[in-house]
Amino acid sequence: MKAAVVTHDHQVDVVEKTLRALQHGEALLTMECCGVCHTDLHVKNGDFGDKTGVILGHEGIGVVKSVGPGVTSLKPGDRASVAWFFKGCGHCEYCNSGNETLCREVVNAGYTADGGMAEECIVAADYAVKVPDGLDSAVASSITCAGVTTYKAVKISGITPGKWLVVYGLGGLGNLALQYAKNVFNARVIAVDVSDAQLKFAEEMGADMVINSRNEDAAKLIQQRTGGAHAAVVTAVAKAAFNSAVDAMRAGGRIVAVGLPSESMSLNIPRLVLDGIQVVGSLVGTREDLAEAFQFAAEGKVVPKVTRRPLQDINAIFHEMESGKIVGRMVIDFNRTH
Ligand code: NAD
Ligand code: ZN
Ligand code: ZN
Repeated sequence: MKAAVVTHDHQVDVVEKTLRALQHGEALLTMECCGVCHTDLHVKNGDFGDKTGVILGHEGIGVVKSVGPGVTSLKPGDRASVAWFFKGCGHCEYCNSGNETLCREVVNAGYTADGGMAEECIVAADYAVKVPDGLDSAVASSITCAGVTTYKAVKISGITPGKWLVVYGLGGLGNLALQYAKNVFNARVIAVDVSDAQLKFAEEMGADMVINSRNEDAAKLIQQRTGGAHAAVVTAVAKAAFNSAVDAMRAGGRIVAVGLPSESMSLNIPRLVLDGIQVVGSLVGTREDLAEAFQFAAEGKVVPKVTRRPLQDINAIFHEMESGKIVGRMVIDFNRTH
């Protein structure tokens, strides 16, 4: 089977691979599609260490072809996910308290385990979340990382109906943060990006206010127009966005950090203390979060914008992502050959 593998010089090769036999608790998926997340770009570029040889992909949707011994949660024909949260230990304090993505022995697809950017993928059956009937596989692939991550981040933000939430970065993740915040949590949403194309799309998706922070001081405008936002979800891969989010908050505001620039943010300690500002990181979502995020998409409350591409386009897609040209998500469709 064909797979997208990271090379030592930070490219991706599409190579022929043979998978090992299934072990206890595992299932084999025939992959239908796999979205390309900015995290794949970080992994490929070695931002989190050298990952030569790994099969990328953690926005995968496949159909179960066969199951190994002891599998009761999946059967052949089911559709299921290949997510960044690929497997936890199942018995630590994080796994047992609804914080399984923080498990210290976690395995991540397309990073510490071979991922879903391949014609076939082996998953830990109990950790592969089933896709609801009627939800298109390419759409579901976007929910598997971008959707669940932003759904969870908006949950963590504590936003309540009618309050102001600002989303920094309206790319693959951000446009779904906007949709979950508006259509599921009933918040009023401000979209901040450096690209007019992303902001135009955000407007179409129902943003209540859009700001291009390349031309304007986003925090100042947000303070003037709303008295400060109640919460922020920052998906931008730039520390400037994190710093602006702090300045855009009203007292008691909460900033949820999601994007992964390799930099530090500035935090003025008196501002933090005197205004009770909170900053919290949020990492993908649990299996339960993903099941919920799928359900809202199946109900049509959240509509990911997806473009289907063949596997051989993978390096081109990364170039487009690096130059900020992608609106919505590029999804590898394994049934496409051109
Ligand atoms: P993307 O490339 O699709 O989108 C990034 C967006 O940020 C683009 O629209 C870009 O124009 C915008 N941007 C760039 N600089 C900006 C700035 N200074 N201010 C405002 N916007 C700016 O990327 P994505 O797939 O949405 O991923 C975003 C980040 O989230 C990546 O770092 C990725 O690794 C990370 N991520 C984190 C988690 C998690 O669990 N925390 C999960 C998935 C992805
Ligand atoms: Zn991702
Ligand atoms: Zn654990």
